[in-house]
Amino acid sequence: MSALRASLLRQIRAQGPISVADYMTQCLLHPKHGYYATRDPLGAAGDFTTAPEISQMFGEVIGLLLAQVWLDQGAPAGFTLAELGPGRGTLMADALRATARVPGFHAALRLHLVEASPPLRAAQAARLEAFAPIWHDSADTLPDQPLLLIANEFFDALPIRQFLRQGAGWAERMIGAESDDLVLGLAPPAPLATLARRLDDTQEGQIVETCAPAQPVIEAIRRRIVAHGGFALIVDYGDWRSQGDTLQALRAHRHDDPLAHPGEADLTAHVDFEALAEAARPLRATELTPQGVLLERLGITARAEALARSLSGSELESHIAAHRRLTHPGEMGHLFKALGLYPATAPPPPGFDA
Ligand code: SAH
Repeated sequence: MSALRASLLRQIRAQGPISVADYMTQCLLHPKHGYYATRDPLGAAGDFTTAPEISQMFGEVIGLLLAQVWLDQGAPAGFTLAELGPGRGTLMADALRATARVPGFHAALRLHLVEASPPLRAAQAARLEAFAPIWHDSADTLPDQPLLLIANEFFDALPIRQFLRQGAGWAERMIGAESDDLVLGLAPPAPLATLARRLDDTQEGQIVETCAPAQPVIEAIRRRIVAHGGFALIVDYGDWRSQGDTLQALRAHRHDDPLAHPGEADLTAHVDFEALAEAARPLRATELTPQGVLLERLGITARAEALARSLSGSELESHIAAHRRLTHPGEMGHLFKALGLYPATAPPPPGFDA
């Protein structure tokens, strides 16, 4: 039995069932046995892949979007370029390469990375050394200045709680122990003020999810952009409102039972974008835009054609497949969504409907 499973079983036997959020927190972030604490999970040898790892074009067009927003907001001297959960640093490296020729952009930026994983911090350090990044444990310590921020597949890794509708109350899904197995159960139903609005769009037996740790992250972003200007781009899978059980585990690129391999599988949940947009007020939120639509509007196809000119054979084939994978509605193009947050006094960011 893995050390983390043993420790979870001990805790549950001593103190009773734990919430899905407690379970996710320990599985992902336990300092010794947590998923992110112990490995680089990305790429072919890992458990999952992400848009920036599929093609350099993703980071390139996002970099150019950020530079355009910077220009549109008057090109402030001295701003924070930040990423939440930068993985291997691939997106940021591509964004910085693509923006090297935007006059003044690199001179004005300081790179800040919010990252919990020691192995991934090391990968980021190797990749982004030339920009002398400053690491943070949370968004709370980002500098007080204009902020351009990107978060790709970060919010889906934050722990969620799950509630099952029962009458006008909500029964929280809890994780208990039966012999050596972790099993799902339900706490007794209770009314919940924070879910009052969800009584309108749910029925008996449906599940909704909440993500409390997202709130202080958005709060930290909001404060800086309200005070100094800037822009935050959040890309993730999810919808305007979370609906149903979206907790999922990925292990070696396959779906896994979320309770089967604690600490050895990636655990994620869909992002409830409405909750992020609400927490960001009075910042404006763009329309929630499918990733494929955003990338097309930002010119990914022209970039793909330019890159294709120097490719042939199997390289060209995989380049074409990568473009399709990022943009096609049947692949990542529709499942992944983008939300932009910006000050009411600034022009809307390119690529979104205002
Ligand atoms: N953005 C990257 C990686 C996505 S994986 C990409 O698109 O390839 C999720 C990232 O968020 C990893 O870097 C992980 O270590 C980081 N992460 C997860 N939970 C975190 C937390 N609570 N605080 C800081 N970083 C976290």
